[in-house]
Amino acid sequence: FSSVELTQAYLNRIKAEDSKYNSFITVTEEQALAQAKTADEAIAAGTAGAFTGLPFAHKDIFCTQGVRTSCASKMLDNFISPYNATVVEKFNAAGGVMLGKTNMDEFAMGSSNESSFYGVAKNPWDTECVPGGSSGGSAAAVAAQLAPAATGTDTGGSIRQPAALCGITGLKPTYGRVSRFGMIAFASSLDQGGPMTKTAEDAAMMLNVMAGFDKNDSTSVDREVPDYTADLNKPLDGLTIGLPKEFFMDDLDSEIAERTQAAIKEFEKLGATVKEVSLPNTALSIPAYYIIAPAEASSNLSRFDGVRYGYRCENPVDLEDLYKRSRGEGFGAEVKRRIMIGAYALSEGFYDAYYNKAQQIRRLIRDDYAKVLSEVDVIMGPTTPHPAFKIGEKTSDPVAMYMEDIFTISLNLAGLPGMSVPCGTVNGLPTGLQIIGDYFAEQKLLNVAHQFQ
Ligand code: GLN
Repeated sequence: FSSVELTQAYLNRIKAEDSKYNSFITVTEEQALAQAKTADEAIAAGTAGAFTGLPFAHKDIFCTQGVRTSCASKMLDNFISPYNATVVEKFNAAGGVMLGKTNMDEFAMGSSNESSFYGVAKNPWDTECVPGGSSGGSAAAVAAQLAPAATGTDTGGSIRQPAALCGITGLKPTYGRVSRFGMIAFASSLDQGGPMTKTAEDAAMMLNVMAGFDKNDSTSVDREVPDYTADLNKPLDGLTIGLPKEFFMDDLDSEIAERTQAAIKEFEKLGATVKEVSLPNTALSIPAYYIIAPAEASSNLSRFDGVRYGYRCENPVDLEDLYKRSRGEGFGAEVKRRIMIGAYALSEGFYDAYYNKAQQIRRLIRDDYAKVLSEVDVIMGPTTPHPAFKIGEKTSDPVAMYMEDIFTISLNLAGLPGMSVPCGTVNGLPTGLQIIGDYFAEQKLLNVAHQFQ
């Protein structure tokens, strides 16, 4: 079948099914069919690459020229991006077919997709449950087979946690591996884009397109991009796996703990050896992150002032009124909470007590990982402490929501790559196994994940 037929089939599925899941904010039917037609021509001419003609979706945090890029915020509901993110350019150049832009938490702040201006996305396994967040729409779309793959971004777990909760595969690359240019900034020192797919093999194909140096991103790393599909079938004999004892703590759902242990047994059968390790500062990762990420967010989000682009309030009386009301009306509650925490933590007199302290903890967390990763090849544990929770269950308790990121956040603070792969179900809801590796060990992670699948 042709790319046009394949694309049309997915567009039909989105039309028929997405009212149940709300996983897309924008469907770009016309452009998708045009891209598919071009791809079919390239295939016929013999100039196609590995990704040519394959449909996928972009998280609505990536700027797409001529297409609304909302970041799931009222602030950007009317924003048509005048340029493409580097990641978007790369998929265009590879001949990919964008089906549309997926739902997410507003400005990627959340773990449940409930802070979206466009309403919550639903978990396809149980539509009364959240899909996780912030890349909840991407996870739901892939799980419901409305798209074979999607991009996501991960600042504290936003690729891995929704992947786990929706039973799919998600990879957060090493910080600097995927360009952040045109990816709307939340916390610049933590943000990283990556693939969300059914399988590790698909993730490898996506990462082949996404990864690489970009002169437009000052933290992009100039390092060769390997073929991420090359090592998928390597045997795992001799692999050493570290199990951090802090990841198997009291609050972990006992059945998730069992699924994780069962997965580890599988790896032993595949030739791996397992040892207990310790990441002693794990518990500090949440408080440190919830200073650093809001601090960076308060700075990044200052550009939304109602003047240059995005939402502007009606009839401002003066400039101050314009700023205040545009931001007051344009941002949702969680975004405002982060801006206030961040501005407070950075303010004179509190900077040392909060921001500097958090940076010191960040260093300790990084050192913990460096020590363990000098002794083992990969670290494994559960991706989340619980399976998907009910919509509304945690909205009144932000700290309970923040605690859902306990296993994912430390990785972003260290800048390391991590993956979540499907790991069975608990009461009919999927769980994820997290696989963590050293800097730029994406190929190894994909290999380990592929052997498990
Ligand atoms: N849940 C975390 C937060 O709300 C992480 C979000 C993300 O990775 N974008 O900040």
